[in-house]
Amino acid sequence: MSSIRPLGYRPLAVPEGFPGRVDFIKSARGLGDSPHTDMPEVCFCGRSNVGKSSLLNVLANRKQLARVSGTPGRTRLINFFDAQGIVTLADLPGYGWAKVTRDMQAEWGRTIQGYLADRPQLSLALLLVDMRRDPAAEERELLDWFRERERSCLIVATKADKFPTSRWPGRRRDIARSLDVPTEDVVPFSALSREGRDVVWGTILALLADDAKAASDAE
Ligand code: GDP
Repeated sequence: MSSIRPLGYRPLAVPEGFPGRVDFIKSARGLGDSPHTDMPEVCFCGRSNVGKSSLLNVLANRKQLARVSGTPGRTRLINFFDAQGIVTLADLPGYGWAKVTRDMQAEWGRTIQGYLADRPQLSLALLLVDMRRDPAAEERELLDWFRERERSCLIVATKADKFPTSRWPGRRRDIARSLDVPTEDVVPFSALSREGRDVVWGTILALLADDAKAASDAE
């Protein structure tokens, strides 16, 4: 099996107050009506209720950018946001909601798979897993898609505040082993303390800088 494009764990320093502006662009049903942008893109995927909206709000320094929903699985669209004109954030619909029908699960699969397979500007996928749970088949399947496409993927272990920090290294190792990724590519994150925020942004900024350098070297 091909490997995920290596990230290397070299987050850049995040400027204070960054990003100054995050604006909603649009909601899309899938790849077909996704916005035409020439900015690199970072997508967010994970099970419903994993803390995806909370992560987006912390990354954006906003309270209600992505509505923290009380009804898991309610949003089935891809929501796009522009972060300071340098990167697009794409919030993919959450999966694994027990109450959805098989038809809805199939629709979810088509939406996500089409987007992940063929979105040319997609630079990085953030895969969110609840730090308290071991990754399941869905998470491993998503990683397999990323591997097939040689996408870069950072694992964000959410709700880290549910554990004392002394337990974080062990949980990181277990999650990394279960997904077959380097431990450094699993970032503990808490929406309450905002711990992990700078590592997530720093990793995104480092990757964008690498891609920009590779593009200019190729010219
Ligand atoms: P989404 O469905 O993935 O968008 O998940 P939400 O962001 O709506 O979060 C689901 C629930 O988990 C909400 O009750 C949040 O308050 C809670 N939650 C999200 N992130 C954290 C976190 O880092 N720590 C704690 N303790 N709770 C969180």
